[in-house]
Amino acid sequence: MHNGRFSFDFSELRANGITRVGEFNPYVTLACDLRCSYCYMFDFLTKANDVVHVMPTGWFVSLMDHICEEGGGLDRMTFLGGEPTLHPDITTMMNEAAQRPIKERRMTTNGMGLHHLNLDKVSPEALDHVSVSIDGTTAEANDVTRAKNSFKRIVETIGLYRQAGFKISVNYTVTNRNIANLNETVPYFHAMGVSIINLHRASLDGNAYRNPDIIIDAMAWISARAKLVEFLKKDGGLYPGLTVRIPYIFMTDSEVLETKYAPIQERNYHSPDGGHRLIVFPATSIGRGLCYMSSDVIGHPNAELGRIDDQGRFLWNWHDNNELIAFSRHKLANVSSLIKNQTQEVNPGDGLVRVSHSFKLIMRTVPAMPGNPIREADMPSVSA
Ligand code: SF4
Repeated sequence: MHNGRFSFDFSELRANGITRVGEFNPYVTLACDLRCSYCYMFDFLTKANDVVHVMPTGWFVSLMDHICEEGGGLDRMTFLGGEPTLHPDITTMMNEAAQRPIKERRMTTNGMGLHHLNLDKVSPEALDHVSVSIDGTTAEANDVTRAKNSFKRIVETIGLYRQAGFKISVNYTVTNRNIANLNETVPYFHAMGVSIINLHRASLDGNAYRNPDIIIDAMAWISARAKLVEFLKKDGGLYPGLTVRIPYIFMTDSEVLETKYAPIQERNYHSPDGGHRLIVFPATSIGRGLCYMSSDVIGHPNAELGRIDDQGRFLWNWHDNNELIAFSRHKLANVSSLIKNQTQEVNPGDGLVRVSHSFKLIMRTVPAMPGNPIREADMPSVSA
């Protein structure tokens, strides 16, 4: 540390082919006030009032500056956790990020409250949108996977962000508890002023190992997905201005060809801007400064790209499970499924391929007019 600034050395990251970080996702705290049925954070989570396993503000700012300086700015940054608003300094961190050359800034929150975030001291322009996690259009559907009485609090929190002028997207995790009402998300969240519905299918990971009955099987997912796409094409125009991100998860061989699917590792690694994603945990005894490329493999033994040590050095992880090393061996596979041993989700006779959960069809609704009920995205694209 020099003059209150921390210094970092990413030469090992560069030596292993990651020459530019385009997306930086800091897990600013490991504290969380929920324990969702499918949470993939395993034993990383700490209690809501924990202030030990947090990313110190100065460390965060110096790291953000280091990455921006090395890469000529950032394409995207998302505050993550745990629950980021449980970081005592989240308002300052957000204002610091707003002054950096970052094209898109986001925060993902569980919506259980604003906690340490002071909306009077942060401009809505500080974030392109706040992503609030919610799993239902009713308390009954939501509370079963998140927490008793959480629906009411999440809806109230969305109202506070809306009132302050923030754009809202919702992260909606689809399980066997809410799949029956999937199409209802469109009118419900449109009426709430939400601009993006970002769907996830809960995967057998983390807490879901204890709740396997919430996981939707391949055929049920494909059927629900098709019904939602059909609904959006037919009636989407009634709910204009909404973007719906729908993960494929399972594809037929012809869909793989049609969509030019490539594993997310390939897209990130070979993107035209060279913009690689870097997820960074706090460098505490639990977070250990671990760095991942995708949240898919968080918590899986030795799947990290490496870690940042207490001197600020990035140390490469040479284990075969390192997501990029695994990818170099299995270029056509969904590497995270291999690392997590989830390839059994499809049977050889199904004619299906398991693809990255981040590969999504993006549909945008435009006002209903004759012959123009909905416009599909030009191409399905990869998003997180
Ligand atoms: S999924 Fe998010 S909100 Fe739920 S327990 Fe995990 S970190 Fe907390």
